[in-house]
Amino acid sequence: MIELKTAEEIERMRKAGRVVGRLLAFLAERVGPGMKTKELDEAAARFLRSSGAEPAFLGYRGFPATVCVSVNEEVVHGIPGERRIQEGDVVSIDAGAKIDGFYADAAITVGVGSLTSDAKRLIEVTKRSLDRAIASTTPRNRLSDISCAVQETVEGAGFSVVRDFVGHGIGRAMHEDPPIPNYGPPHRGPRLQSGMVLAIEPMVTMGGWLVEVLADGWTAVTKDRSWAAHFEHTIAITNDGPEILTQVPGAL
Ligand code: MG
Repeated sequence: MIELKTAEEIERMRKAGRVVGRLLAFLAERVGPGMKTKELDEAAARFLRSSGAEPAFLGYRGFPATVCVSVNEEVVHGIPGERRIQEGDVVSIDAGAKIDGFYADAAITVGVGSLTSDAKRLIEVTKRSLDRAIASTTPRNRLSDISCAVQETVEGAGFSVVRDFVGHGIGRAMHEDPPIPNYGPPHRGPRLQSGMVLAIEPMVTMGGWLVEVLADGWTAVTKDRSWAAHFEHTIAITNDGPEILTQVPGAL
């Protein structure tokens, strides 16, 4: 069952959303060549602490860090560590926070220095697929219209949509119903309505869509080691249309 949030609950989720959006903007500015991915995590932990927010990922099913940092062939759930970011890399950062009993969850992919034209396009198309998916969340559309918007945008650009991970409802728990795949035919599933709060998160690869999880038990990489990008927003559906709760200040 998809739980509808009251106006008061959405107001509380705006708080968590704003912190996550600001955290991602803060981290995106800091990503640079030579930096270890764990340095981003340390900065994220400090940022959330000073914002009065709890990290949502730390300890979640044993995840050992505040944010996920996934570089190049890493799709999602990268554990920040000793890997050094290099010029030309694409770095996906996924962050979640809890404030006042409610969660928000968002992700961005940042290009480091000058990128190949394919890498640049990968980031642009993934972001565009999220924008189109969000635009499709008008009341009266159905859940799979979100999925279809992502798939059409991504495959129309010659890239692939990851199947093994999906978006989700969000609220008092980080993962609520419904699961939101990034592929599928339109006009299926429950009707979208005001009060639904959803985390929509296309994961896109340059090559095939198959992924595998590394021996650390978390880091998901493309099977063919092609590069991947990931964008995510937590959005609330209102009678006036979607409201992005995790808007990243100054983001592309
Ligand atoms: Mg998520």
